[in-house]
Amino acid sequence: MHTNFSHEQLQDPTIARADAMLKRCVHCGFCTATCPTYVLLGDERDSPRGRIYLIKEMFEQGAVTPPITHHIDRCLSCLSCMTTCPSGVDYMHLVDLARVRIEQKGRSPGQRATRWLLAKVLPSPGRFRIALLFGWLARPFRGLISALGMKTGAAALALVPSRLPPRRAPKHEPVVRPAGEPVKRVALLLGCVQEVLQPSINQAAIRLLKRHGVEVMMPSGEACCGALQHHLGRENETQKAARRNVDAWSSAFREGRLDAILTTASGCGTMVKDYGHLLARDRGYAERATEMSRLTRDITEFIYELGLLPPLAWTSLRVAYHPACSLEHGQQVGNEPRALLIQAGYTVLDVPESHICCGSAGTYNLLQPELAGQLRERKLKNVASVRPDLIATGNIGCITQLERGSAVPVVHTIELLDWATGGPCPKPLEKLKDKVHPIESLMQLAGAR
Ligand code: SF4
Ligand code: SF4
Repeated sequence: MHTNFSHEQLQDPTIARADAMLKRCVHCGFCTATCPTYVLLGDERDSPRGRIYLIKEMFEQGAVTPPITHHIDRCLSCLSCMTTCPSGVDYMHLVDLARVRIEQKGRSPGQRATRWLLAKVLPSPGRFRIALLFGWLARPFRGLISALGMKTGAAALALVPSRLPPRRAPKHEPVVRPAGEPVKRVALLLGCVQEVLQPSINQAAIRLLKRHGVEVMMPSGEACCGALQHHLGRENETQKAARRNVDAWSSAFREGRLDAILTTASGCGTMVKDYGHLLARDRGYAERATEMSRLTRDITEFIYELGLLPPLAWTSLRVAYHPACSLEHGQQVGNEPRALLIQAGYTVLDVPESHICCGSAGTYNLLQPELAGQLRERKLKNVASVRPDLIATGNIGCITQLERGSAVPVVHTIELLDWATGGPCPKPLEKLKDKVHPIESLMQLAGAR
């Protein structure tokens, strides 16, 4: 793509970086076919190519106009376009630059207030718990709130679970050791929203890792990865969150060997794998952040590399695996979760349009509820077409988005792997327990024949 930046403009490091990224786009349009918003709306300005033009215009003219903000805000950052693009356009970092610029120059006071609130509440487990309680009490007034035009408020109430999660976070030992000499030593990022909404996911992860002979540390000081603030274009807060985690993991390093940093929410994994880029210009952190990113693995990647223990049960459960965009496109981890589920004995079904986002996308389902709702309906229709017993996915955002409206339970992939190798049945699957049988009963059956 031809750009028209002046010499002075190119002295600005942000514009120089954007210029290099913009120039890689050859306008071929391959990305449009896999872009969820273009598929839904058919508007070029809601396609990756159209957004790249808008970003070029914004930086060239130095003005953030309402139409530019509107179409960039509609982007899910699902990164499906990066998987498709044959020219290697770094859309992820390009749209990040655009979001930061829009946040600085293109927000109305009302938008600023809403986004400030989200950035303060969601990453803080304490504040998030209080917000959930208020949200739960306000649920009956959702229609009124919607009628008053408070669409983010109404969308947030729709996502509040019908049963409030536990009032307190589960207590984790700082280090969980396996029986015998550990085969690996890892730090586990517990995260923020997931640990409040579904603490059972990290509990399953810890059990599974311990069973595989892995020592699991939860270093004090680690907290939200910064992905939520990042989605909101709040650069300083994102960097602050990244620095805090780099410091926490650096202390873990000083205490001994660390083979990997594991994430159980793929949105967090994509963020942490990008810490090296995020802090590249920070001399005090760049090197360590790059090392932390290099060490980061989604938990399914790690277990796949380690080798899954044989399952202790056999099952006829049909699993619709939903690949979270942050895992499939953001981290290019596509095969491992599917392969592990098959190794664990589940029947994994191919869902049509599996590459299309479910509409969760960080804070997207709060800020763009109409489009997010359409994407959820489309996803659930595709899932229903393969008649599964349940949906498995690797991101808390997708779980929350899909379980509202899904006819079948939605669980984290790691809960299924834990169950198959000796862990308890995940709560949402209690009714499906009779479809799982101890492996000895299969052997007895084979012997009888
Ligand atoms: S990130 Fe997703 S929504 Fe945004 S332009 Fe790319 S494919 Fe479209
Ligand atoms: S596929 Fe890549 S090169 Fe082609 S229009 Fe999209 S972003 Fe540009």
